[in-house]
Amino acid sequence: MNIVLFGPPGAGKGTQARILTERRGWPQLSTGEMLRAAVQNATPLGRQVEAILAKGELVTDAIVIGIVAERIDRPDCKNGAVFDGFPRTIAQAEALDKMLAERGKKIDLVLVLKVDDAVLIKRAEQRVRDTLARGETPRSDDTPETLQHRLSVYYKNTAPLLEFYSRQGKVATLDGMAPIEAVTASIARTIDKERGWFARLLGR
Ligand code: AMP
Repeated sequence: MNIVLFGPPGAGKGTQARILTERRGWPQLSTGEMLRAAVQNATPLGRQVEAILAKGELVTDAIVIGIVAERIDRPDCKNGAVFDGFPRTIAQAEALDKMLAERGKKIDLVLVLKVDDAVLIKRAEQRVRDTLARGETPRSDDTPETLQHRLSVYYKNTAPLLEFYSRQGKVATLDGMAPIEAVTASIARTIDKERGWFARLLGR
């Protein structure tokens, strides 16, 4: 199955994507992680996007679409993937639909993790405290000002995508403020309902 995990920064997309990969085998395709890896490895792409990530702005559609196009052709995406942090604009969603259609595939489900802004801000603060406690450096875009900016970018550029996917009848909205295991369970129920017993029987 090809699933989009959708929601504002800090909604738990990464956490739930990792659990899905572990339990269902569909790889997590996080454009944010790929871009951060490029920055860390100081690749030409990394140098190009470093300042944009630090500011909490979106990198260009062409860049992320290019990264994803290359990634979905790897063999581990044969049975599907969990898209985390992509698409973030209508242009990206249209490009993804086209890419998948060319490969005889489609997005099966868009899972929206609904979390209030106040909770997102508290979670981000906790993430920074945890990172510092581990003796590691927090993400450059986890400062309170940048988080606030990432939230406004989300509402302006990304939230309108919900309408795009709703028209395709693919959206399921879940309570992202429930404990992690409860969110995982409601994701599992939604996926199993969508797949139906026949696909489950065939192990797809
Ligand atoms: P994330 O880890 O998904 O929160 O992404 C971290 C940062 O990477 C974002 O704030 C953007 O600067 C950049 N980024 C990640 N995914 C995308 C995307 N699909 N489109 C544009 N920029 C992205």
